[in-house]
Amino acid sequence: MSKKVVLLGSTGSIGCSTLKVAQDLPEEIDIIALAANDNVAKLAEQARDTGVKHVAIYDATRREELRRLLPDDVTVHCGAEGLREIATLAEADIVLVAIVGTAGLHPALAAIRAGKDLAIASKEILVMAGEIITQEAAISGVKLLPVDSEHNAIYQCLDGRAGGEADVSRLILTASGGPFRDTPAEELNKVTLAQALKHPTWKMGRKITIDSASMFNKGLEMIEARWLFGIGMDRIDVVVHPQSIIHSMVEFIDGSVLAQLSNTDMCFPIQYALTWPARKKAGLRPLDFPALGKLEFFAPRETDFPALRLARQAGLTGGTLPAVFNAANEVAVDAFIAGDLSFPGIWQRVEATMAAHQTRPANELDAVIEADSWARQHCRSLVAVRH
Ligand code: NDP
Repeated sequence: MSKKVVLLGSTGSIGCSTLKVAQDLPEEIDIIALAANDNVAKLAEQARDTGVKHVAIYDATRREELRRLLPDDVTVHCGAEGLREIATLAEADIVLVAIVGTAGLHPALAAIRAGKDLAIASKEILVMAGEIITQEAAISGVKLLPVDSEHNAIYQCLDGRAGGEADVSRLILTASGGPFRDTPAEELNKVTLAQALKHPTWKMGRKITIDSASMFNKGLEMIEARWLFGIGMDRIDVVVHPQSIIHSMVEFIDGSVLAQLSNTDMCFPIQYALTWPARKKAGLRPLDFPALGKLEFFAPRETDFPALRLARQAGLTGGTLPAVFNAANEVAVDAFIAGDLSFPGIWQRVEATMAAHQTRPANELDAVIEADSWARQHCRSLVAVRH
């Protein structure tokens, strides 16, 4: 029987790849609902192509426009409530959250509480509220299936076991190093938006592409891994691997390392998350090792790119600090995109925001949301003061 999937963030990079995966495996994956922020034209086109009966648009002002583009038998949901409604549809088996930023948090929690498995692409929600999400998932007995390629790789290496077992010595996240892997530190303040958007190996949405260039993406992933696999931050390492063929590794206490490899196409982890625990044959191209030639590994430049140090500090401190790390980064990235901040200004503002924060426990959603709002406001005030 096919899995019935609700797709939040269908018009984005992950969303479009998910629709491709579903199209290639019609017997296995049935997309039953779609959601986006305000891209009405694309959402309507996707709804017509997939034949879903439920769509949600976050921007309530676009509801009527969307309504007019769809057949009468499609229900249009809207706003935050609309996302929650489709995330808890009775017929849904699994909800894939691919909304950029933190808007996916509430629908993700609603889905968990309704007993739906969650396929998580939106790393921000685990960074912000990992403790709450993992606890609620355990209470509801639902699976958290990682879509992010690194965590999906680790999940595959652990074969679905939680990683907290004593035989795992460390998780090794691979990083491409981004477009500035070899850029001298003194040139980073001249980096332009166009250069930051040129990722060497992956084609992704704008925010995550800039996070990859600054290494914040890997920092967010360290914290994400800590929650998904129940492993201390001190056992999560990063290695730069420019080819992005090894998606991450698990080192065991006997010194053996398992790695997961594939071409750089997000359809691989999306398909695995949606067909798990089965593996299915679709049209994805396997690796051609002689054509690859070589795989390289380097230590990350932590002094020049402080995101990893800041992530480790946030993850080790815990509480509301990871939410502050994430929110301040979102504000700083927006400011960099708007031309209001230099590239190093991103980590300088995040570090200053973290330093000004008084960390509190993060086991209540209100505390997390409050820390998120505080960090946004504080970071905005720091952006306004340009050096
Ligand atoms: P994109 O920017 O390409 O797409 C973002 C999606 O989120 C769009 O569908 C957008 O809708 C939707 N969206 C934004 N805000 C809202 C909202 N308030 N309510 C409903 N929908 C909303 O992002 P990506 O696909 O690149 O990334 C999505 C998430 O997945 C991010 O958290 C990212 O970190 C993570 N991820 C992405 C990877 C990738 O390869 N792209 C890899 C691993 C993780 P609209 O089009 O209407 O604006």
